[in-house]
Amino acid sequence: MDNLNDLVIHFLKDMYYAEQQSLRFVPEMMRAAQSAALKQALETQAQMTRAQVQYLEKVFEALGKRPEGATCEALLGMLKEAEELLKDIGKVGPVQDAGLVAHLQSVMHYGIARYGTLLAWATELGQKQATEFLGLLLESARKADRTLNDLATEGINKEAH
Ligand code: FE
Repeated sequence: MDNLNDLVIHFLKDMYYAEQQSLRFVPEMMRAAQSAALKQALETQAQMTRAQVQYLEKVFEALGKRPEGATCEALLGMLKEAEELLKDIGKVGPVQDAGLVAHLQSVMHYGIARYGTLLAWATELGQKQATEFLGLLLESARKADRTLNDLATEGINKEAH
């Protein structure tokens, strides 16, 4: 890697891997969640993630590259932490729900950080088509984060007291 363009491709591969891996944890979260609103949010989130994967493919395409993933240690670390947390709580209920929302928000914050950087880099490089899709990716991650925040502050956190 020796230029900004190489960094863009590297970070795209990282997110392509991260988005797909995060989907693998959805069934386990569904089993662990109690709140109907949280289950609904998980389903919406999974749909959004699948759309994010397709947007990423469009970005690769816009840059003339084949979509390809590269191991994201950050995402794997977050999944490991979430699994440990579920094991430590060990009981379906509001506390576990609050823990799940916290995990999902950390994944969203990672996406916001990465898509924000990618958007800045693609803008710098004048990659117009790529910036359009990266803007959509960033906005989706922000929106998902806001939804999770509302879910927590408008119910789940109170029940977990
Ligand atoms: Fe990563």
